[in-house]
Amino acid sequence: MKFFNQHKQVSLIIEETLLKKISQIGIEKYPYETGGFLVGYYSDDSMTLYITDYLLPHKQKGMAYLFERSIDGMKQVFKNLFDRQKHFYIGEWHTHPNGSCMYSSTDLNAMIEIANCETVNITNPVLLILSITEKQVKDFTFSIYNNKGLHPYE
Ligand SMILES: [Zn+2]
Repeated sequence: MKFFNQHKQVSLIIEETLLKKISQIGIEKYPYETGGFLVGYYSDDSMTLYITDYLLPHKQKGMAYLFERSIDGMKQVFKNLFDRQKHFYIGEWHTHPNGSCMYSSTDLNAMIEIANCETVNITNPVLLILSITEKQVKDFTFSIYNNKGLHPYE
């Protein structure tokens, strides 16, 4: 599956099977919000982002609308991933049970923090939000963070 971001004129590519796996985790955790990290790499010209995997945080609080992810303990995981495959942390994903796939102000603030975080060292992290019900993913949106704003891919 390929998506395009008008704002940055960049593309994003993800295998449908990977998106299905992430969706399944979200549905299993319903009615609680859940989420984690996205892993991938950029093309040599930096115009295309390939999302290759996801990770679940070691610690998470699974309460509806209150998902707190923690990068604690993940540093080594990401380092190993980079050493092995040259893949790295490229952003975040989480579910909105019975909600839309529009980001909240909390989501935007979290992305600002991530972009300023020295550990991850990424200027344009990606955010995937999945709108879920008890049985299925209703909708999802990938957005790219840039300069204190989130811009959706189409
Ligand atoms: Zn959210």
